[in-house]
Amino acid sequence: MYIDMSQCINCDACLRACPPNFGAIFNHGIDVVILPELCSGCDKCLDPCPVDCIYPLPADEWEPAPDDWWEEPLSANDPYV
Ligand code: SF4
Ligand code: SF4
Repeated sequence: MYIDMSQCINCDACLRACPPNFGAIFNHGIDVVILPELCSGCDKCLDPCPVDCIYPLPADEWEPAPDDWWEEPLSANDPYV
């Protein structure tokens, strides 16, 4: 999944909905991002999003997260990182 940041209103509803065993969604500066390496595709973040700005990421568009997206999970000592 990926978040269209041009539509996102930074409400954090998706962040709270992402199951803790995946924990794929993080605040990153003013953005909310999904770490593609951690996302299972479980869809639990979709319904809570009030503006429907989370979309499936086509397999052929999958790319590793930029290095700076890992700053928050690493600084939080995320056990899954
Ligand atoms: S699809 Fe599931 S694992 Fe991926 S970001 Fe959404 S809630 Fe988290
Ligand atoms: S639920 Fe939707 S609008 Fe809210 S932070 Fe997540 S992606 Fe952005």
